[in-house]
Amino acid sequence: MSCLELHRHPAPARPGTHEVNTAAQMAPRAPAPVPPEERNGGRVKAAGIAPRGIYRPNDNILTPAMRSPAYVQMSTAAAITLGVMQGVMHRTSCTRCLNLLLTYPEGCRANCAYCGLARHREAERNYADRNFIRVDWPAVPYEDVLDIMQSGGDARRFHRMCISMITHPRSDEDTRVVLRRWVERVPHVPVSILSNPTTMTRADVQELYDLGAETFTVALDAATPELFDRTRGHGMQSPHSWAKYWEILHAAAEIFGPEHFGAHLIVGMGETDYEVLVQVQALKDLEGHSHMFAFFPERGSLMDHLPAVPRPQWRRVQLARYLIDYRGHHLARMRFDETGRLIDFGLPAEELDRVITAGTAFRTSGCPGREGADISACDRPYGDSPPSDIASYPFAPKGGDLRRIRAQLRRGPA
Ligand code: SF4
Repeated sequence: MSCLELHRHPAPARPGTHEVNTAAQMAPRAPAPVPPEERNGGRVKAAGIAPRGIYRPNDNILTPAMRSPAYVQMSTAAAITLGVMQGVMHRTSCTRCLNLLLTYPEGCRANCAYCGLARHREAERNYADRNFIRVDWPAVPYEDVLDIMQSGGDARRFHRMCISMITHPRSDEDTRVVLRRWVERVPHVPVSILSNPTTMTRADVQELYDLGAETFTVALDAATPELFDRTRGHGMQSPHSWAKYWEILHAAAEIFGPEHFGAHLIVGMGETDYEVLVQVQALKDLEGHSHMFAFFPERGSLMDHLPAVPRPQWRRVQLARYLIDYRGHHLARMRFDETGRLIDFGLPAEELDRVITAGTAFRTSGCPGREGADISACDRPYGDSPPSDIASYPFAPKGGDLRRIRAQLRRGPA
């Protein structure tokens, strides 16, 4: 039995007493050099072990050479919900989104500083064994996934499926194959694409739409061009660029249309409240949505020595994002101090109180499921925090949760 919390080598939570994660504080460490024979999945390809059935990360056997589209990885929560793995989740029994990750021995060729899948880990851990958003990602034959879903084996618990493309020369073509087969066999469950803009053109976005993808997202992650470059561009010998990401985001806005595109943002990597909320408002002005994560030091990443985002900073930005995205509020009505910190939401106290009490603002954000436009199917249980100090609630927060959230908001200047 497994649990979503990885107990083997827990990453430091570092609650901290500081008020915000500043840019000066949040500098990634430099990657160590990787010996030539260990690059590009060298160990896995040299061993050449053929995969058989499900592969559980760190299974104490040699990692098989698995490739999409024959194999896909999925989050531990998705594997439990699909019934291909046993386990328990804290205060929730399932996830509503089947998150699939393309897999190759070479892994993701990018080197994002906060990410557990990044290229710099080649010497330390094979791609299929790397932790990502705090959990293991077992690898499953894609045909098995389709068989279970087509026969209703998930008991209709999944409201959505999402393909995470990663950065790999094969990922555009293989994403199309995975999508096409899904639409043929599981047409009742809509598909989101978590794209890799670096390898894509506008024509690729159009093709995914024509093949039946319902929503298209771009993981901007960093909230400013400078932080983007530092954490996932030149600063990390990584291929991504802010301009290219926005080019594909604009293409998605035109092709997929209102409410069917969005971007991921991570709070606490060194941006100010104002800077991240400018991006939230820009996405809303385009008629899309932001999907927001709290920064957590992913074990093995180049930022695993840094503090998680302080809860007051996280809560006020999380609440402000919900007001902009789902309550018709606007950044221009909020006030910020000279350091860019949000000091006034610009709403009457009673109205703000009603939004806090409803609790939806503090749930995981992402593409919607069947419950409501503002309730994410992609609930990513404990992807951005430990269950002991929840950042994004994978369920509706209640009594004690709301008291805790209010205390966290009070500790900040809100
Ligand atoms: S492109 Fe995505 S999967 Fe690859 S290292 Fe960056 S964040 Fe991780």
